Amino acid sequence: MSITNNLLQIKSSLPSTATLVAVSKTKPNKAIIEAYEAGQRVFGENKVQELAQKFEDLPKDIEWHMIGHLQSNKVKYIAPFVSLIHGVDSLKLLKEINKQAIKSGRVIDFLLQIHIAEEETKFGFSFDEATEIMNSDLKTIYPNVNIVGLMGMATNTDDETQVKKEFSTLYTLFIELKTNNQNLQTLSMGMSGDYKLAIEEGSTMVRVGSAIFGIRN
Ligand SMILES: *Cc1c(COP(=O)(O)O)cnc(C)c1O
Repeated sequence: MSITNNLLQIKSSLPSTATLVAVSKTKPNKAIIEAYEAGQRVFGENKVQELAQKFEDLPKDIEWHMIGHLQSNKVKYIAPFVSLIHGVDSLKLLKEINKQAIKSGRVIDFLLQIHIAEEETKFGFSFDEATEIMNSDLKTIYPNVNIVGLMGMATNTDDETQVKKEFSTLYTLFIELKTNNQNLQTLSMGMSGDYKLAIEEGSTMVRVGSAIFGIRN
């Protein structure tokens, strides 16, 4: 299967309202161009340096999403151009994104990362913390960042019941928080192995890498 075929097949299986983020981390520019020529414009990366380099090298109408864990001291490298930051998992990070957004004269969209997996290693806020943040006056404290939704990663397991349960609890939180904040439009959940399940459970944005570009080394 080619990148083009993989991409078109996945796209056609998604509801038209869902956004496909093509996760191109570790993949060469050539692979990204192939997806771009097949119509893909939204790409995700998880390393700041790689993301900044690809932004330099590739067409300027690409929307670049930062999908991985982001360290505060690296925000400055992507603040001038990043279109969505998925993994906001601390207020320290949010504060820094706001600061760098001001420097760039931008308002940067972000998602709050919520911890839904069983693994301790996955980052993110608890449901209570997220609710507290949403109830605070974000716009006043951090005027140059804009919350547009939530992001979560399910446990890495073959147990579909478990994954489904995690996605469904995140969806419930999303709907709950959305009632008081119409800005929340994006629920980023689902990767190559579980995006179909995620869509069934209410995902509006899937982050798919290996199913498009092939396995990573
Ligand atoms: C790598 C990565 C993905 C994509 O993973 P695949 O299994 O290759 O689809 C999605 N989300 C995050 C946060 C990632 O780091």
